[in-house]
Amino acid sequence: MTTLFISDLHLAPERPEITQAFYEFLENEAKQADALYILGDLFESWVGDDDPSEFLANIKSRLRALTTSGTHLYFTHGNRDFMVGKRFAKATGCTLLPEHHVIDLYGQRVLLLHGDTLCTDDIDYQKFRRKVRNPLGTGLLRCIPLKKRLQIAADWRDKSMNANSNKASNIMDVNGDAVERLFAKYHVDKMIHGHTHRPARHHHNGGERIVLGDWHHHGWILTADQNNLELSSFEIAPEN
Ligand code: MN
Repeated sequence: MTTLFISDLHLAPERPEITQAFYEFLENEAKQADALYILGDLFESWVGDDDPSEFLANIKSRLRALTTSGTHLYFTHGNRDFMVGKRFAKATGCTLLPEHHVIDLYGQRVLLLHGDTLCTDDIDYQKFRRKVRNPLGTGLLRCIPLKKRLQIAADWRDKSMNANSNKASNIMDVNGDAVERLFAKYHVDKMIHGHTHRPARHHHNGGERIVLGDWHHHGWILTADQNNLELSSFEIAPEN
């Protein structure tokens, strides 16, 4: 009986070695697990469930194979793939989770989230998030033709990369008060998130905040069972 957590794979056709590592993970660890939680930014970009790309279709069918084999699959939206919708859920057999979601993890109350809502010092990003991450915003986005959405997504990615390269690194990390507020609001023992690409286990006030790592030179997995909680990484070999 194990439960796995991953995030921030940022799957993209330009990085086939990450996709390959993910497929191997699905075939092995994930297939053996009871549940897999993907806490956002599985995809580098997701403009809508109607995107016919073959790359995405392959990933969907691998996820479908996992749920068919009996592993429960849960998906939290990240800032890159917040347009993942019901059609994706139906195709893969996953359950879409709300931005903040509390689970009972072997007797402990644990809050799951992508982590971007904790980065409250990044005012520009939070403004952008409020605009697009509400039913009206995503509804309007869905009405835009696919080709135009692909352009917009590429444009946002460029802008975000330029903006982030000028931001002090502490601005892109979590805000301590925001963390405390969520611990208090949800009365949880633990919090698990990704987004910051700073894998670590932080202890505070009797609680623990576990940050998953992004998949780049290494892949990161949090494995939970009745007795243990282990954050581990493995090497991802570059494609030759
Ligand atoms: Mn993110």
